[in-house]
Amino acid sequence: MILANRTKLLAACAASALLGGCATMAEDRPAMNNSPAATVAIPQGTGYFAQPSDLPLQAPDFTKISDGDFLPAFEQAMMIHKAEIEAIKNNPEAPTFANTIVALETSGRMLGRVSTVFYALTGANTNDTLDAIDAEIGPRLSAHYDSFSLDPVLFDRVKAVYDNRAAMSMTPEDATLLEETYQDFVHAGAMLTEAQKEEVKAINTRLSETTTEFSQKVRDATNENALVVDTREELAGLSDDEIDAAAKLAAERGMEGKFAIALQNTTQQPSLPSLENRDVRERLFKLSYNRAVMGDDNDTRTLLAEIATLRARKAALFGEPDWASYVMYDRMAENPRTALGFMEQMVPALAATQRREAALLNQQIEAGGEDFEVKPWDWYRYAEQVRKARYDLDENAVKPYFELTSVLEDGVFYAANKLYGLTFEKRTDLPVYHPTVTTYTVRDADGSELGIFYFDPFQRPSKRGGAWMSNFVDQSHLYGTKPVIYNVLNIPQAAEGQPQLVSFDNVNTIFHEFGHALHGFFADQRYASLSGTATARDFVEYPSQVNELWATYPEVLRNYAKHYQTGETIPAELIEKIEAAAKFNQGYDFGEVVEAALLDMKWHSLSPEEAARITTPAQVDAYERSSLEDLGLEIDLVPPRYRSSYFNHIFSNPAGYSAGYYSYLWTEMLDRDSRKWFLENGGLTRANGDHYRETVLSRGGTMDYFEMFENFAGRQPDVQPMLEARGLVPGGEGEAEDISDGELPAGATGIDPVE
Ligand SMILES: [Zn+2]
Repeated sequence: MILANRTKLLAACAASALLGGCATMAEDRPAMNNSPAATVAIPQGTGYFAQPSDLPLQAPDFTKISDGDFLPAFEQAMMIHKAEIEAIKNNPEAPTFANTIVALETSGRMLGRVSTVFYALTGANTNDTLDAIDAEIGPRLSAHYDSFSLDPVLFDRVKAVYDNRAAMSMTPEDATLLEETYQDFVHAGAMLTEAQKEEVKAINTRLSETTTEFSQKVRDATNENALVVDTREELAGLSDDEIDAAAKLAAERGMEGKFAIALQNTTQQPSLPSLENRDVRERLFKLSYNRAVMGDDNDTRTLLAEIATLRARKAALFGEPDWASYVMYDRMAENPRTALGFMEQMVPALAATQRREAALLNQQIEAGGEDFEVKPWDWYRYAEQVRKARYDLDENAVKPYFELTSVLEDGVFYAANKLYGLTFEKRTDLPVYHPTVTTYTVRDADGSELGIFYFDPFQRPSKRGGAWMSNFVDQSHLYGTKPVIYNVLNIPQAAEGQPQLVSFDNVNTIFHEFGHALHGFFADQRYASLSGTATARDFVEYPSQVNELWATYPEVLRNYAKHYQTGETIPAELIEKIEAAAKFNQGYDFGEVVEAALLDMKWHSLSPEEAARITTPAQVDAYERSSLEDLGLEIDLVPPRYRSSYFNHIFSNPAGYSAGYYSYLWTEMLDRDSRKWFLENGGLTRANGDHYRETVLSRGGTMDYFEMFENFAGRQPDVQPMLEARGLVPGGEGEAEDISDGELPAGATGIDPVE
């Protein structure tokens, strides 16, 4: 994932993400002081955050920042930002691009500085004080930004500039800034009549109630449908510790002497592969799958139907045909038809793979002397057996080849040097927020300074889970700033005196996060809000995924994956085994995700009239089923990762990730197609790197993403390489063992072509 801190900040900023300060974190003096016509006095800030940092490239000076500084700095920075906005509104001159759009872009710089450092710390090195400030400041920031996005006087100025755009001479980047600023206001409701605003308000209130109720019901349904059994024997297959934990859970719930297994949020449950008793497996699966459709108090079906209807009605007030079209205005895919068409293309190969995998599992079941057809509650038990037999990979055999510093410096940095000519110089002069954080100067091919890189690898209690990248300072030609970027990971730290080895997953993550960093370092934008990784949600994960290609590229591997004791390079068989294992069981693993993404898009591409016709539980069930079955997917064989009735990502808050679950699939398509381009064009070369940098990595959010991709690949993105990489169709580089090899029973469906 990326930009956790900024995402958090942006979440706080709601629809007004681009209204200055929020995504604008580069440093300079407050721009409004330059405006001769400003009639509103801008207060001067005080304290550390009032001015840009004195350190190289304005890197944050952690020696001068203490926890107690944040709240007063936030308050002061919001007050200054408000004064800057007032100055824009009260400017006696006619609205222009410079005095309105650029002025908005450059407002809130102090707020940007405070937020950047604050959210970096709450993510990577928090404490109770910072957490308390976070809880207090979040709603206040949200209200602060909302007050601008809903300000009619401010919008009138933005609209005046926008309406005059055909007569203006602008760079493409200026035009993008204008378009995005205007669209953000429009999507926040600036164009609505008073009556429509009232209606939106009423819908928002009801959406807030219904989505909260949805998440509470899902929570209760999940808790109340724990599996309960009477005897230890029924849980055979689980470890003694797991069975003891089940006894404890039952006792806690007032069922002393029984055994309980709590449900997880997904359809599949982690205990299912281990449970030997098939009836118990079936019970556990059905409790999970039917948790919120039991006709009791926790049934969410009428509620989710209402949410879908409310969203469709809200979209209609904005002149959009459906909710997905309303929320996707700033995405690469832009509308639900594109996203649906993309997913529907995968269905034939996916459905065929699912049937093939089911046939394989049925053989495994039969080989074990059992007599039944595989069902979802059996799937992972038998898939795990096949996986163990074919791809068993001892993590401890792999780890000695992956020493952390070598992975970073001889792997990640080496690939960046070969592709882009970058060089890296470790430095010791910059203050860091934790002693295990290291810093590097990043130099461009010509030796000039490109930026500063902070690497924060280790897990600790003060850090939240996952891995992310963000900027301390954004690149901006307007401000004359260069990128200062950090990567945060959660790698378990080795004991004192032990070599710092990492898993293959972590190796991938290190390459992935550095892919985001490259996107930031190569930024070449005038405006910070369009700079580097400030791109669409269904685009931002693309460059980072592409960078993972180099983790297993032979020339790169030879340079970094060396045994920490013997210096021997990792054997090719180990890498092949890892890559082959990645193609196993994709009909299910990938299929359940595609199905969830399809459900998300199907619910959110309904018109208000269509949505209004789905109200009863039976109608919800029928729509869910037909959404997938009409495409040829067998919901009873491979059910979606989340059923509509407990799909918290899309129904548990007013907008959330609704009409957005497809994003990871989409960026994976771009990624796999791009990897194919690299491999077909000679792989790890400066020419390839420079071309990718020129066409994609240096473009930030300044142009149409399809055009960007076409400039890079010479064609539109294609779903085929992703299907190949997932093993759903034959082909692709380093083709893995096809799971149907010699295993395909007579009469089973073979591999369908995708198109
Ligand atoms: Zn990412």
